Amino acid sequence: SSAVSLENVTRRFNGVPAVDGLTLDIPDGEFFSLLGPSGSGKSTCLRLIAGFEQPDSGVIRLHGTDTASLPPYQRDVNTVFQDYALFPHMSLLDNVAYGLMVKGVGRAERMVRARAALARVELRDVLNRKPAHLSGGQRQRVALARALVNEPRILLLDEPLGALDLKLREQMQGELKTLQRELGITFIFVTHDQGEALSMSDRVAVFDQGRIEQVDTPRRLYFQPRSRFVANFVGSANVIGGELARELTGENGVFAVRPEFARISVSDRPARSDELSVTGELSNILFQGAITRYELVLAGGTRFSVSETHPVRSSIQEGIALGQRLTASWPRT
Ligand code: ADP
Repeated sequence: SSAVSLENVTRRFNGVPAVDGLTLDIPDGEFFSLLGPSGSGKSTCLRLIAGFEQPDSGVIRLHGTDTASLPPYQRDVNTVFQDYALFPHMSLLDNVAYGLMVKGVGRAERMVRARAALARVELRDVLNRKPAHLSGGQRQRVALARALVNEPRILLLDEPLGALDLKLREQMQGELKTLQRELGITFIFVTHDQGEALSMSDRVAVFDQGRIEQVDTPRRLYFQPRSRFVANFVGSANVIGGELARELTGENGVFAVRPEFARISVSDRPARSDELSVTGELSNILFQGAITRYELVLAGGTRFSVSETHPVRSSIQEGIALGQRLTASWPRT
């Protein structure tokens, strides 16, 4: 069954659609991400599901129920925001139990549920601390516990890791994925970070200007992007079209080559029949630790990037110099 379904949903601000005729179906128990550049409508979509915004047209259903007349607090949904908004004078336990108090849950049950929620996010040892004495990662976990204590069937997460440094963000990605699997509830996760979306999600919707370009599993988005926008936004891509595409494939059209699918070699290397290749001048070597990116400028000025996970064979590496002619080749598909 569907946890969330949107049918032709539009939301305009000052006449301009932020979300434009969106249709989307998210099954129960899925880790689903909304991925796209800033301003593409992801947060508006999340706020529509939460009930903080009303659609101008279209229907939003939660577990089959039309939400048109459901205020946010009557929806089986909780949101985790990036800005944690914790009460500074309260302990973690009280911060997490607060929402239950507002709902009229008795003290004994509040404490049991708040402790359980804090244990879920690995904070059972710091229940009595005040927010000021927590690290950024711990504060993020409290924000999660505050949402989980309500036992929602759907958890909405709006760039929850955006304020954390890279190491912590990677660690939290693993923890969130594990948490979602253990709870078995639906997570809807907003991010502009493609790596984050790919690593955690069962499926991802790629947003551009209020519309969805593609909804797919991370692997399909990566290996079979259906548009130039998706190819460029999810990972990076050398997009080849026009005359060059005709020369290479004998056909009209546009295709994309991922930098890491290609290899570089000195240009007099004989071409293999199971490969395609282009030749150009080396314009940049960008060392990035795990990979090195080589930028070639092809005839006509097209740029082509190749990423190698290991230093290139020493014969190339030793003699390599900017301005040198190199060949980039990749398997025919
Ligand atoms: P994203 O989350 O992808 O960054 P948003 O959903 O926040 O995108 O915004 C989509 C578009 O809608 C943007 O152009 C934004 O400026 C506009 N927008 C969002 N909320 C409001 C609002 N409350 N008032 C006016 N414009 C808004």
